[in-house]
Amino acid sequence: MTKVAIIGLGNMGCGMCANLIESGLHTCAYDLNPDAVERAESYGAVATTSVIDAVSQVDFVVTMLPAGDHVLDVYFGVDGIASNAAPGTVFIDCSTIAVDHAREAHERALKLGFRMIDAPVSGGVSAAKAGKLTFMVGGETDVFEHAHRILGAMGETIIHAGAAGNGQVAKIANNMLLGVSMIATSEAFCLAQKLGLDAQTFFDISSKASGQNWSMTSYCPAPGPVPAAPSNRDYEAGFAVDMMLKDMRLARSAALQSGTHAQLGALSAMIYETMSQDGLGMKDFSVIMDEIAKASKLRTMMQADPNTASANQER
Ligand code: NAD
Repeated sequence: MTKVAIIGLGNMGCGMCANLIESGLHTCAYDLNPDAVERAESYGAVATTSVIDAVSQVDFVVTMLPAGDHVLDVYFGVDGIASNAAPGTVFIDCSTIAVDHAREAHERALKLGFRMIDAPVSGGVSAAKAGKLTFMVGGETDVFEHAHRILGAMGETIIHAGAAGNGQVAKIANNMLLGVSMIATSEAFCLAQKLGLDAQTFFDISSKASGQNWSMTSYCPAPGPVPAAPSNRDYEAGFAVDMMLKDMRLARSAALQSGTHAQLGALSAMIYETMSQDGLGMKDFSVIMDEIAKASKLRTMMQADPNTASANQER
């Protein structure tokens, strides 16, 4: 029987773990947080108390960790995965991290005799729970093919993006586009509303016209048109502003390093930064709609009566 270890059982990793088990794989689970391990055990995982315990007898290691430093540390730190995995174990990192970190991890793994793929995901917590993630994978073709069954247990769409690190390239370019499109979509809804068009009517038209995009049709930032969207639950429980900010920063530094003139990406990163500083870091990133609506209201008041508006702003 194929054996898998999964390390990082947070919002995403916990659903991914449940789906590995569901597909019949023998799954060892580890997280720094014992409650997360206990929850995984209740789904049928083998609970472990250290990285060593989790990885020493498995065929694949899946990691779903917050950021690049955690990934390098968990793989190559003292008592890390690379010094405790059996020869031939394949490493699958699904975390969203910098392209440079991903390529460094591949090289270090290879030097120690291990094969690795970067396999970041799109789809969020609900897709992780439902086993419907999209995986974008960087690494050698034979390793990609070998790991396909493991990814298939957690996802629906699995695409090979090319060489080591290319999964992360796809992920950050995609999320930069998403971050920009959410702001642009919110601006369009606010403008339409200001000019007298209600959100549903604008949605009905624009979702069938050239402004149509995923941020509008699947995740509409204006409450109403897409019932499942976080805008209908006060922008709670979705893809957090701080998560989007992390991805926008990764995209920003990759753009600077590669000499890519990504002006909207840079501006959008600053907008998410401001939202985070304003205390909205844990809200869903589509809360930008609310911020634009409030700013628009304030501007109208200032045009009508600058004195009243500044007094209101101080309050
Ligand atoms: P999370 O913070 O909920 O989970 C991370 C888990 O890693 C935590 O349970 C934490 O205890 C554990 N962890 C941290 N350091 C560890 C260590 N040294 N050893 C063992 N466990 C450790 O984060 P998440 O939302 O599950 O996101 C995980 C990754 O997935 C991130 O890279 C994120 O960017 C990416 N991602 C998240 C989403 C989303 O919607 N949440 C969507 C796509 C991609």
